[in-house]
Amino acid sequence: VIALKAGVGLGLLKLQTWIAVQIADSVWGQVVVTSCNDSEHKGHAIAGEDKDPHYTGRAVDLRLNDRPVGNARALAVDKLVQALGPAYRVIHENVGTDAEHAHVQYEGPL
Ligand SMILES: [Zn+2]
Repeated sequence: VIALKAGVGLGLLKLQTWIAVQIADSVWGQVVVTSCNDSEHKGHAIAGEDKDPHYTGRAVDLRLNDRPVGNARALAVDKLVQALGPAYRVIHENVGTDAEHAHVQYEGPL
């Protein structure tokens, strides 16, 4: 089951990024997208682009704070990394806080 947090802006989400959401759903059994092209993001531009990948449709944030704090979250991230392979970078962000999430960005060619 894939769900979107209220207010998530899909914008120009890349197909490759959406595929990562579908893979997360298949690995985890459910996934909540908490951010795409919305909110404030201060990451670094990738793939020759000039903006944070959230604003070019290459990145999504996936909820982890609905799992127990600690190992369950790290394990979920590990499984996702394995399933997505090298075209994607997964960053485990805000570990141990209410804002903990998996940031997933597609770094391959379009
Ligand atoms: Zn992010």
